[in-house]
Amino acid sequence: MLTTGKNFCKINLHKIPKDMVESVIDSVEIMLRCGDPRYGFLKYMCPECGKHQKIVGFSCKSRFCNQCGKIYIDNWVNKQVEKIIDVGHRHTVFSIPKEIRGKFYWHREMLKELSDGVAEVIQYWYRSKSKKMGYEVGIITTIHTFGT
Ligand SMILES: [Zn+2]
Ligand SMILES: [Zn+2]
Repeated sequence: MLTTGKNFCKINLHKIPKDMVESVIDSVEIMLRCGDPRYGFLKYMCPECGKHQKIVGFSCKSRFCNQCGKIYIDNWVNKQVEKIIDVGHRHTVFSIPKEIRGKFYWHREMLKELSDGVAEVIQYWYRSKSKKMGYEVGIITTIHTFGT
């Protein structure tokens, strides 16, 4: 059983790019502490007698946590919905071909370039399709590096 982020990294270090090791350790440790009252908690007490109590450990609120990730994503989506204007939207998914995924995995800085490149392509496509109308598109890009 894994007990700390350092143990996790000892077993998986060869799979993690060097510049990510520290943040992976932090993320794993934060997740493992999720709900553990030793790292902070709320104590609910019956106002009638003071004897009935319940202690609830703080949640980690990490997007990597199985318990908290859904809440993190829901909050992120709600924030985006507040920012965007009330018109039709398209959701487009770009995938990195399996053959070159390793390159991006080991050179994370390339993900930003890839994301910017995708946005540029979409901008270009819309501009060339709507020269008369002069449409400008708003683009939100997110990068999924894990999950399905
Ligand atoms: Zn009571
Ligand atoms: Zn959590």
